[in-house]
Amino acid sequence: MPEKPTYEELQQRILELEKAEFEYKQTEGALNEALHLARSTMDSLSAHICVLDEAGKILVVNESWRKFARFNSSTDPSAYVGTNYVMLCDTATGLSTEGAKEFAAGIRAVIKSERAEFSMEYPCHSPSEQRWFMGRVTRFADKGPVRVVVAHENITERKLAEEALRKSEERFRSISKSIPGVIYQFVRRDNGVYEIPFVSESAVRFLGRPLEELHNASQLFDDVHPDDLEGMWSSIEESARTMTPWLQEFRVVGKKGTQRWLRGVSSPGPLPDGGICWNGVLLDITELKQAEDNLRRSESLLRSIFQAAPIGIGVVSNRVFLTVNDMFCEMTGYSREEMIGQRTRMIYNSDADFEFVGTEPYRQIHEHGTGMTETRWQRKDGSVIDVLMNFAPINTSNLDEGVAITALDITERKKAEEGKDKLQAQLLQAQKMESVGRLAGGVAHDFNNMLNVILGYTELSMEKLAPLDPVQADLKEILSAARHSADITRQLLAFARKQIIAPKVLDLNNTVEDMLKMLRRLIGEDIDLAWLPGKNLGRINMDPSQLDQILANLCVNARDAITGVGRVSIETANATFGSDYCSDHSWCIPGDFVLLAVTDTGCGMDTKTVDQIFEPFFTTKELNKGTGLGLATVYGIVKQNDGFIHVYSEPGKGTTFKIYLPRDTSPVQNAEENTPKIPFSHGETVLVVEDEGSILRLTEEILKGLGYTTITANTPGKAINLSKVHSGQIDLLITDVIMPEMNGQQLAEQLMILYPKIKCLFMSGYTTNVIVHRGLLNSGLNFIQKPYSRKGLAVKIREVLES
Ligand code: ADP
Ligand code: MG
Repeated sequence: MPEKPTYEELQQRILELEKAEFEYKQTEGALNEALHLARSTMDSLSAHICVLDEAGKILVVNESWRKFARFNSSTDPSAYVGTNYVMLCDTATGLSTEGAKEFAAGIRAVIKSERAEFSMEYPCHSPSEQRWFMGRVTRFADKGPVRVVVAHENITERKLAEEALRKSEERFRSISKSIPGVIYQFVRRDNGVYEIPFVSESAVRFLGRPLEELHNASQLFDDVHPDDLEGMWSSIEESARTMTPWLQEFRVVGKKGTQRWLRGVSSPGPLPDGGICWNGVLLDITELKQAEDNLRRSESLLRSIFQAAPIGIGVVSNRVFLTVNDMFCEMTGYSREEMIGQRTRMIYNSDADFEFVGTEPYRQIHEHGTGMTETRWQRKDGSVIDVLMNFAPINTSNLDEGVAITALDITERKKAEEGKDKLQAQLLQAQKMESVGRLAGGVAHDFNNMLNVILGYTELSMEKLAPLDPVQADLKEILSAARHSADITRQLLAFARKQIIAPKVLDLNNTVEDMLKMLRRLIGEDIDLAWLPGKNLGRINMDPSQLDQILANLCVNARDAITGVGRVSIETANATFGSDYCSDHSWCIPGDFVLLAVTDTGCGMDTKTVDQIFEPFFTTKELNKGTGLGLATVYGIVKQNDGFIHVYSEPGKGTTFKIYLPRDTSPVQNAEENTPKIPFSHGETVLVVEDEGSILRLTEEILKGLGYTTITANTPGKAINLSKVHSGQIDLLITDVIMPEMNGQQLAEQLMILYPKIKCLFMSGYTTNVIVHRGLLNSGLNFIQKPYSRKGLAVKIREVLES
């Protein structure tokens, strides 16, 4: 039988029980406290946490889990407690199917102690945002039942940051790969050591080294061309000292010796540890350099052509000089400094020229790209030049960029062209005068024969009539009219240069002096006549009567040009022209001349009048006052004597006629004497040959009247026949020069054979070069000019017979 406990024992037991209860209570409190702490710690974490048992059932969840679960589903979060989380994962929709299965497998492995822990990142995107989570599974069961903690942490922020970083790196890599240059980071450490922490992949191609070698700074410096190394170092130092951007061009030499030009640009920045870091790019400028070189070469070529070109070249924009070459300066007389920046107006001769050049060539440029014009420039010294200008715009679509102009001095060419025009005009004028002359000469010749007949028969009639016969006065009138007509005819013949002349070597001063009295009478009392003889005057060889004609005509014209009082001066002088002078003055002929000048203070003439004054019948004078033959005669005479005329005249300023006659060097001959009375025959026999019947009859009658035995023939053939049958002597042959069959001279030669002593007198009012020129006349052939007077013929016959 069990012993009954004692009181003390009971007491003791009670005490122990009380103590145990107390201890229990104490432990329970501590446990509760620990539990509470654990719970609130769990709740304070942002990760969603749950604790599972060995079957995968949820034992506990924390606050954020509950919140998250509530967020996901409307079911009571506490319902999760007690559900099998692993099974839930297997069918989860929040995770991707694979992801959830993988996570479930991970939990199982941890529960089974196959692995100590498991973690996994997974996306859990909601319709409104992208989210990532990291799920972590840990086991904590040293003793007691297996417990597994599952924590889900939101890692969206980290994920997004990582993504952004990755994207930016990718972008950077693609940029640095595709950039046509090298991106680099170049560092100088505090201790002076150089490093290249970063260099883009493109450097491999650039520098021809593998990427690893490219981080070695000293190796890279080895590649720099030795000539560029020093410049490179000093520029780096300069950049480091001033902390200004580094910019340098240099060459690198590849392994095969190929050279490349690189341009480095970078900006320095301090490193926290005291060094300097340059971030920058290297560009391959080899081709650029090449192009620059080519450009420089072609530029210098262009410049030398520009400067050395033998034509003026310049560039203008908006009519302002941008540049000009040496020749342009030479052409204008201005220096480059004087022109550049100035308006182009300064080189043009007039506003009109300036305006024209500013419009016409530009119109051409718009039409076909380039322009051309002739213009006149005024040089700095005031002289004017003719210029041919060409225009080509530098940029056709924008003329403001400048227009290149070339300029050629064409002054000489222009002058030559003008000279040619002048010569052409002179030739035309000469041809016109020649044909008018031929016409006038022909008319005058026929007219002359008629006048001869009129004069001759009038004289004969007067001879036959008693001196006091009333018809005498009428005949005298006929004679005077016929003589006047003969004068006109002579002038026409003179103009036509078909006048028979008897040139003599003359002193012009003496001849003029002999005429002065007559000339004074001619010009009248109101007009002063000044005589200015030249000293040591050369002699001339011409018919003095022609000189009379010249002076008379010029003085009469001078008189007519002066209204009221005035002055006429006659001047003589020697004149010599060289071929140089003549090539510039087309009106003159080279050689030695004697000048006869007649100047008046009269009304003068305009150039249009001067151009016509030598034409026969040109007159500005009223009807019956002028014949228009005066100057035509002068012209003909001067031409016949190989001289020339020059006229200076201006309206209102008077006129000077300058006549140049060739100087003669042969000795002077004596003037022929005048016979006062009509000389009669000494019983000679004369043979007259003339194809014009009326003249033949007239001559026969005159000769018979003078007492000559006369034989007449109207052809040379008849004359020869008659002379053959003639019994006595024939002393004189008077023959026309131009006849059918043979000319007068040929006839004379034939008769000379039959009658060796026969003398010859040729008559003509008209002749050709074959018969009449100085040589023939001087050598002793005798001429009488038609129309002739009875006295003239009588005197001439005696002269010939007695020579
Ligand atoms: P004319 O005297 O019969 O008119 P010319 O042949 O002598 O014929 O002259 C032709 C023209 O030339 C004159 O009509 C006149 O107009 C002009 N002329 C000639 N000489 C002079 C002069 N000294 N001053 C002005 N005009 C002149
Ligand atoms: Mg006249």
